[in-house]
Amino acid sequence: MLLGIALGDACGASFENLSFQDATKKLEAEGIIPGRYTDDTQQALAIAEIMAFGDEITPFNLAKSFLTAYVRDPRQGYSRQTLRMLLSPDPQSFLKSISDHERSERKTDGAAMRAPPLGFFPDRKTVIKSAVLSASITHGHPDAIAATVAIALFAHERIYHETLFSELWAVIREEVREMSPDIIFWCDRCSGLVIPDREILLGEYAPYGVPYTESRIFLGVVIFLLAKYGNDPCRLLKEAIQLGGDTDTVAAVVLGIALVRGGEDSRIWDLVEGIEDGPYGREYVISIGNGLSDRFYPPIINDQNNVLSG
Ligand SMILES: [Mg+2]
Repeated sequence: MLLGIALGDACGASFENLSFQDATKKLEAEGIIPGRYTDDTQQALAIAEIMAFGDEITPFNLAKSFLTAYVRDPRQGYSRQTLRMLLSPDPQSFLKSISDHERSERKTDGAAMRAPPLGFFPDRKTVIKSAVLSASITHGHPDAIAATVAIALFAHERIYHETLFSELWAVIREEVREMSPDIIFWCDRCSGLVIPDREILLGEYAPYGVPYTESRIFLGVVIFLLAKYGNDPCRLLKEAIQLGGDTDTVAAVVLGIALVRGGEDSRIWDLVEGIEDGPYGREYVISIGNGLSDRFYPPIINDQNNVLSG
């Protein structure tokens, strides 16, 4: 999973903040060239490290891990608000560096982007609780929390049940509805799309691309892309980039979820060699991903789709 996140992030980064027309033109002219991953992978790594080392998901541990990951290896892509938080000298200061009001209004996709590793918790209730907690320390708006829970559950569904990409939204819909009924209509429309209809997927942002400021739009896009292209990772990456806007976050999340189970024979893996391999680069990402899998070893699934123990 983490390698999928890093791959999507590193491939999408050079298209970030481009309109869909500019992203499409650049894609046609230059193709996809992975480089350095950004904030998305770094924060997902920070959560994965807590889990792989067997520590609990608590506000203090999350703050500590975000600070450690950033200080040891500052990456590009953080918003001004998050950068301000990351300049805190210690975890307690990090948690206090955003006011309750600022936090409750914050609905950017920055909490959802780091959520896929939380899907490794075997117990669904723990996935949801950890996702709510992880979002709440930085993004308190119901849309941001709902998107974070949904992304963590998508990952969980793929890891433990190999749920079809086309059914991912249907199987988690009720849990998201209980938490945030307002978001359901939007997500239902996106999940029912046959083609990437920009007006429906992006609303007022159709002339631009996926706005990092709106978790609701981000989630709708992820639902659509996975349902439509989840079985074809190369197409998935291309479509994520062609939507424009927050291309690295969209690509990181959809590839992280799509490649946690599936895509083994895809040519997408040819791109992995291109991910930079500095001290916290490709090999480090692989080692933490392996640590996560080792700790939460996915169950064996038999032909009847029943989960077997052991
Ligand atoms: Mg980024």
